[in-house]
Amino acid sequence: MGSESTDLEGVCTCRSVRYRLASAPLFVHCCHCRWCQRETGSAFALNAMIEADRVALLAGEVEVVDTPSQSGKGQKIARCPRCRIALWSNYAGAGDALRFVRVGTLDEPDRLPPDIHIFTASKQPWVLLPPDMPVVDEYYKASERWPRESLERRAALIARARST
Ligand SMILES: [Zn+2]
Ligand SMILES: [Zn+2]
Repeated sequence: MGSESTDLEGVCTCRSVRYRLASAPLFVHCCHCRWCQRETGSAFALNAMIEADRVALLAGEVEVVDTPSQSGKGQKIARCPRCRIALWSNYAGAGDALRFVRVGTLDEPDRLPPDIHIFTASKQPWVLLPPDMPVVDEYYKASERWPRESLERRAALIARARST
């Protein structure tokens, strides 16, 4: 995954909120936890993790909705104020510095396939994963799975958060 500028853009369903990712994401999660199943009304959620300052709003504004999360610490889901589609979310751990962009809102979601499948202990049994795909029952350590460049970007993010 390079840090070069991309033309990865996304939009909500009523098209009033549009955003662009300034680079490739850090890592892409396909999460099969029950919380993601409920929030999406589907079998899993596809989230591209990226620094918040690499998500540029091109049109509209988002409304941030406090939402319970599995950790108990809550998450903030950024939604279009009109159609209420979720565009990204932040979790308590990293705060707003790190966004989980909903890959399905991209114009070309095919460009960000998952890097790992997480919480597969609660995966719907009919979802079949390719045998070479990284899979974990629950969560994992980024230091063991992320590419070096993404770990360096994460370290820079943490350093920036500590200095403010
Ligand atoms: Zn909308
Ligand atoms: Zn989940």
